[in-house]
Amino acid sequence: MGAAARAGRAPLSEVLPRFLASDDDRRLTALERLRGRMRELGDRHIRPRALEIDRRAETDAGYFDWEAVQAGLRYGVLGLTVPRSSGGEGALALEASLAIEELSAACPGVASVFGAHALGIAPLLVLGGPAHWEGALRATADAEREGRPLLMALAITEPDAGTDVQDPELMRRARLSSSARRIRGGYRLSGTKRFISNGSVARWISAFMPTDPRQPAETATGFLVDTESDGFAVARVEHKLGQRACPAAELHFDDVFVPEELVIGREGDGLAATMMTLALSRGPVGAIATGIARGAYERLSAWLTTAVEAEGLLERQEVRLALAAIVEEIRLARQAYVDAAIELELAGVGRALAHPALQAAGLVPRTIRRRPRARRWASSARARELTASLVRSSTSAREATRSLALASLAKARGADVAMRVTGLALEIAGLGAGPVRAELEKLWRDAKLTHIYEGTNQLNRLQVYRGLCLGETMPAVLPSARRRRPPRFANGAIP
Ligand SMILES: Cc1cc2nc3c(=O)[nH]c(=O)nc-3n(C[C@H](O)[C@H](O)[C@H](O)COP(=O)(O)OP(=O)(O)OC[C@H]3O[C@@H](n4cnc5c(N)ncnc54)[C@H](O)[C@@H]3O)c2cc1C
Repeated sequence: MGAAARAGRAPLSEVLPRFLASDDDRRLTALERLRGRMRELGDRHIRPRALEIDRRAETDAGYFDWEAVQAGLRYGVLGLTVPRSSGGEGALALEASLAIEELSAACPGVASVFGAHALGIAPLLVLGGPAHWEGALRATADAEREGRPLLMALAITEPDAGTDVQDPELMRRARLSSSARRIRGGYRLSGTKRFISNGSVARWISAFMPTDPRQPAETATGFLVDTESDGFAVARVEHKLGQRACPAAELHFDDVFVPEELVIGREGDGLAATMMTLALSRGPVGAIATGIARGAYERLSAWLTTAVEAEGLLERQEVRLALAAIVEEIRLARQAYVDAAIELELAGVGRALAHPALQAAGLVPRTIRRRPRARRWASSARARELTASLVRSSTSAREATRSLALASLAKARGADVAMRVTGLALEIAGLGAGPVRAELEKLWRDAKLTHIYEGTNQLNRLQVYRGLCLGETMPAVLPSARRRRPPRFANGAIP
């Protein structure tokens, strides 16, 4: 790889000058190690197979490349964002974003499999409880160590509600078809979720449904669904334009039972959990997009410096200007997601995750946490109330709105950069570029999805407007302090 192509792979202090100002050497060293580990995974195991996986999934939408996931296991990708107390690596937003940029530069589709997995984990980080920490999260980390992949996913989108479920105002008018019915010991879930990344291959899905579809914003609730439950079915897998390695599925829930202890937060916390999840996950989407642009730049530069058919191109001023513009775009896109990640840690939901009380809960020995009394307390209404109040006391609604807006900015900016850079790279390479053209075309197709998932760029920019231009505060981005009425069984009896 030539010097130009290596530009994106330089040390963090070089690609992100503001890291020079950081005196946290240990964290910088750990970040560098993590980048190196993910780069090795990408270069050795993913990049060489990216086109082949894409082609196989083109002819068979249901195809899923477990080999790529298996390779990820050996590099600890599935346990990356699992908290340390549950046996994972406990990566924060900055670590997760830098890691996924590396994977995305190799293949955005495979990177999205790992990204969608982290997305499924995110609600459990923000409002989950001990039943999640000791259940799905620990199982994910344990399975990874044993060499078995256990994937997760997030399901909020429905056939008639996509943009609406990602915004507190729009959510009030959302037409949701799904609903959750309270019964003794838990809930029964019914309805359809659409476009769910990893939906056909995940073992656990964080799904959001209202207990009263006429009041979607007030009653949306998160549930951790075991996909081996009766009544759960994968209805179909979409034919995709890009990122084909990551299947997007339509899921049917037909009276699926979820026990009380697997509710994410309190009944009615679903909208806040969704918004906090998006604040955590949109920055990494900006990183996926940055990785796509970087992947295109690296492939183009390598071709320009080595291919016979590219001879003389690098001498032309317009090509040099284009390369400089590409590097400019990539660096600014990266800066945007790093800013979002750091803001999140300092002032947003990330600070709640680092709350001493939550950390301390994680330090309670497993044997004690597993005792029946401890488990009963952990899934009690009081424990859920405590988690919600910890989140509220760690960050304000204004701070959370601002960090959501910065994450949205990084996502929207990154998506535009990925589209522009992949398009430009294709123009420079031209029709006679040989094999690299297929790789660039794939990245261009892959880039389009970054405009759409985790909210379209339009919605993300409307949230940037509200959070940064208007300086608005969205109260629904955090769990409310309101004491809830005691929940009722469907037959009217109070449990
Ligand atoms: C491949 C793929 C993978 C996905 N993965 C997941 C996943 O893992 N989990 C999940 O829950 N969802 C997932 N999604 C869903 C994704 O988040 C939605 O597609 C997205 O939010 C847009 O919703 P929609 O498709 O219903 O479009 P619509 O909401 O119907 O929007 C259509 C157009 O109208 C615009 N629009 C809508 N409302 C407004 C408004 N109020 N103001 C301005 N413009 C507006 C939109 O910007 C867009 O351009 C995925 C989608 C795809 C395509």
